[in-house]
Amino acid sequence: MKSAKNSGAHKPPADIELRPVNPGVPVTVAPGQQLPHGTTSGYVGRFAPSPTGALHFGSLLAALASYLDARASHGTWLLRMEDLDPSREPAGAAQQIIDTLESFGLLWDGPVVYQSSRLAEYQNTLAWLEQRGLTYACDCSRQRTRANNGIYDNHCRHRLTPPPADFAIRLRLPDIRICFDDRIQGAYQQDLLSQCGDVVLRRRDGLIAYQLAVVVDDAWQGVTDVVRGFDLIDSTPRQIALQQLLHCSTPRYAHIPVACNQQGQKLSKQHFAKALAPDNTALYLREALNFLGQDMSGIRRLETTSSLLQRAIERWDIQRVPKLANIPVEQQLG
Ligand SMILES: [Zn+2]
Repeated sequence: MKSAKNSGAHKPPADIELRPVNPGVPVTVAPGQQLPHGTTSGYVGRFAPSPTGALHFGSLLAALASYLDARASHGTWLLRMEDLDPSREPAGAAQQIIDTLESFGLLWDGPVVYQSSRLAEYQNTLAWLEQRGLTYACDCSRQRTRANNGIYDNHCRHRLTPPPADFAIRLRLPDIRICFDDRIQGAYQQDLLSQCGDVVLRRRDGLIAYQLAVVVDDAWQGVTDVVRGFDLIDSTPRQIALQQLLHCSTPRYAHIPVACNQQGQKLSKQHFAKALAPDNTALYLREALNFLGQDMSGIRRLETTSSLLQRAIERWDIQRVPKLANIPVEQQLG
């Protein structure tokens, strides 16, 4: 294990240079990460599923788009399991995702990172923020946020006596507007306080929240490019704000449309999205490329996943991905 230097712009290196999560907190280098043969750019992308069930067509889209963007850029593509909530993760789901990705030929670089093995890092970062007065304890109910259109009203920010126990830890967000240029969706902006509200970093049940873990790990793994579903676009400004507080670089973002069923619901385990059948990978890949607006000429006659992926990498054009929040898919896919 070696430590990342505390200075440091990202360099396209012989092995991945991991940036510090923040000055003062030692950050270890992700083990075993080497640029694979043939990857020469500084691009680092990732696919980061929560192992709450089998991959379905919706999650294949995010995996494929981030894979193609990384490979077309001669970059590195990492796989990270966001397994921070054991109550939502059936036994074997992570391995099932790994097996499915392999059957689609979507092969990642380096070892799979499990967030469940990185709790100490998240706690360190939380402590660092706490020491700087950037957090506070909150025992507000979910109903409070729900009653305010999902926006937390920062009720506990100015409490004189913090709750004694059973509280969440929230990040004190700055009262600013965050703007970023999404590679697919274009300019996106959000006023943090009026449109988001202070964000939970550690939940009341003690679990580390997604928003903290994703920012820490994107920085730790040196991720330069995030390609993911549109349902996460409104989380991006708060993640950028946290990156800024932690002195981390901000990756480029691209949010692809989300696949929904004929009722307009996002394909998800909650809506009984179908698991991908491993014997029909070529069909799914062609449908996914079509969904992503890619040039389909010559694609229809390709039969193997490797020939399809090779062609798709050569022709990948992120500008062809529809600038939409969601797209309904045929019943057989959803
Ligand atoms: Zn509160």
